[in-house]
Amino acid sequence: MPPHEEFLAQLRAIAGPAYVLTDRRDMAGYLSEPRDLYRDGQAICVVRPGSREEVSAILALCQSTRTAVVPQGGNTGLVGGQTPLSDGASIVLSLTRMNALRELDLVSNTMTVEAGMTLLQAQEAASQAGRLFPLSLAAEGSCTIGGNLATNAGGTAVIAFGTARDLVNGLEVVLADGRVLSNLSKLRKDNTGYDLKHLFMGSEGTLGIITAAVLKLYPKPRAVETAFVALASPEAALSLLTRAKEHFGNAIRAFELLPRIALEIVLRHRGSQRDPFGQPHAWYVLLEVTSQAEEGLDELLFAFLEAATEEGLIEDATVATSLDQAKKLWDIRESLPDLSKLEGGSIKHDISVPVGSVAAFIAETTPAVLAAIPGARPVPFGHVGDGNIHYNVSQPIGADKAAFLARWDELNTLVHGIAAKYEGSISAEHGIGQLKRHLLAEVKDPVALDTMRAIKAALDPLGILNPGKVL
Ligand code: ZN
Repeated sequence: MPPHEEFLAQLRAIAGPAYVLTDRRDMAGYLSEPRDLYRDGQAICVVRPGSREEVSAILALCQSTRTAVVPQGGNTGLVGGQTPLSDGASIVLSLTRMNALRELDLVSNTMTVEAGMTLLQAQEAASQAGRLFPLSLAAEGSCTIGGNLATNAGGTAVIAFGTARDLVNGLEVVLADGRVLSNLSKLRKDNTGYDLKHLFMGSEGTLGIITAAVLKLYPKPRAVETAFVALASPEAALSLLTRAKEHFGNAIRAFELLPRIALEIVLRHRGSQRDPFGQPHAWYVLLEVTSQAEEGLDELLFAFLEAATEEGLIEDATVATSLDQAKKLWDIRESLPDLSKLEGGSIKHDISVPVGSVAAFIAETTPAVLAAIPGARPVPFGHVGDGNIHYNVSQPIGADKAAFLARWDELNTLVHGIAAKYEGSISAEHGIGQLKRHLLAEVKDPVALDTMRAIKAALDPLGILNPGKVL
């Protein structure tokens, strides 16, 4: 048997023949990513293990044969971290078959799940038990817990609950040599040396394969209120955020900023949407607050909005009076990334700056972008409460899409340069993957990079885990 066939035969013996895909058509969905920036991925095969033991045996085999492994969850990542390179030298390890709920502990308030469970399934499992698993992002129907943790996902509830890494008590990880680092701990306090789980979260599959996690659960709110607020500027949004924190404390579950052009894009392409207000406004905030008390949150919100209006912080506001109305307001925010595709090319950024610098960052970036590409249409939106703005730039109307997208690196340099001035980050929540790997050396402290390389060398000395990503 040729070495290639021998390797495949061993994989089939481990995972079962039905779960080792080699046909190009069967593999297609695993080889390119949703933005289609990386469409020439090639792999020896796609393996879909059903258990931690199988993952362990696969990694041991790959280590001994020096075969690269690209771990993949729901394949919704936005930086090309989860798809193979075009050299065809790796296998894709898809975790989606491992989606069991292993344990619910309602006193410890934890839920132990396998890596391939989708985020939506995790949210629903928590909800059925009367709890909240708060991680929330646009891809939640198909992204998986393993991918969420490996990339330290963010989303819209970070303002209240932190990023994915803040929602984890323990992890089970298969190391490059196949050994299992089993730390499915429910402990809230454990100071026995290095907190190893945090090494793997945000490592994008370059240090180990997450196979299960103990997730933190929270009380399910008894009341939720959603408002869409019109205001004049990002400065006003920051003032409103400060007021909202004083007024609601930790009960703010979302605080999302949208410019007028974002609403226009949604209105243009979404027949079911109407402008929430009678006249246009320059900026909007989607605000959601929750309470453990069944009564009184609506009055609290109305009083807040009334005071903000009197102070001149906001120009108008509408509060959803039903779940359907709340969904419709959320749809404006959630449908924006997809609908933006209908406006032609879009050059993306996922920057963060200190919350207090968001307005200054936008005020400085927009004229610089327009000077570089006259007619370009900046659509800065997102998680202003976390200082995380998706500073996306749509092409000028009528411009050539390919010619516009050819300026991706140039515009990145400009926008990232301004973020750096404010001591910001070039990747707030999407990660590095393939997309920003070449930028990391420019923005990361050299000592930090050296430390990262030392950790990589210690945990994956042969470099088989997700090569060509991050480092
Ligand atoms: Zn986001």
